[in-house]
Amino acid sequence: MAWPEAAARDLRVLVYHRVYDAHTPGRGDPHLWSATSEAFAAQMAFIARHFAPVTAWQVADALAGVAPLPPRAILVTFDDGYRDFLTAWPILKRFGVPALVFVPTAFPGTARRFWWDELYEMVATTAARGVQAPGLPAMGLRDAQERWRAVRRLNRVIKGLRAQEREALMDALRDRLGEARAVQAEVLSWDDLRGLAAEGLAVGAHTVTHPALPSLTAEELHAEIETAHADLTREMGHLLPFFAYPYGLVDERAAPVLRALGYVGAFISLLGRNRLGRRSPFLLYRQSVDRRHSVPALAASMTAPYVDLREVWRLLRGR
Ligand SMILES: [Zn+2]
Repeated sequence: MAWPEAAARDLRVLVYHRVYDAHTPGRGDPHLWSATSEAFAAQMAFIARHFAPVTAWQVADALAGVAPLPPRAILVTFDDGYRDFLTAWPILKRFGVPALVFVPTAFPGTARRFWWDELYEMVATTAARGVQAPGLPAMGLRDAQERWRAVRRLNRVIKGLRAQEREALMDALRDRLGEARAVQAEVLSWDDLRGLAAEGLAVGAHTVTHPALPSLTAEELHAEIETAHADLTREMGHLLPFFAYPYGLVDERAAPVLRALGYVGAFISLLGRNRLGRRSPFLLYRQSVDRRHSVPALAASMTAPYVDLREVWRLLRGR
């Protein structure tokens, strides 16, 4: 598609997972605790002041060539639909920042929990002093540091597995470490999502069960995307044409399936510059925000030279 030079705008995209109350102990993997509510408010105040927060629909219009984005456009996204989005929402509204939440559709309205949160809880709370998972070297669990290392290592292995292999490994871990504490539903219900959507929240597709797409057969990949699409259109009453790759793991088989269903873009979880019209809209970069991001750190990481350096660094490392 020919794209007028003047409209080839940069789009910055942030991705959050969980916004939490610093005063109540959190549950699940702290890796996904993106910001305390205080830090999140400071970040939203910053972007509302220095950037132009846009809606997902504005991005869709820009990709379709209907209307260009404003200068310094920024889109705020949340992955996985955790209930604690309800902490973030009033803050987003206060600063007039639109948001887009990506939900794996098997989770709303159920007590299903994400395997990574269960894994973290098992490793963090077990009385075991070490663990030997099938196919992995023995890992010590004697102190907090060893436990953190074990969680990160197991997490890296498990996220690439197929569902059956993952369940088998999780079962083996449950046997060795003891079950994790039970939790209430951690994901927003469909009613919650419809209520939020009525107030302006955009809800996008993130598969059904949150698999690593590259681990799937072609048939499974179609089913994960098409069923998620059917679930979302049925439950939300409309299609928001954006998708986020689980774990940010891109699978080139996904874009044609998404396009055929009317999707106009998909997001990965790497930092980079999106120059709309030049980069594939099915490989849109996002910057992950985590607990280490103070406002100055976030601001610095959003500057073009920093983003370009990270891209060069990634190329050099062959990733
Ligand atoms: Zn996700």
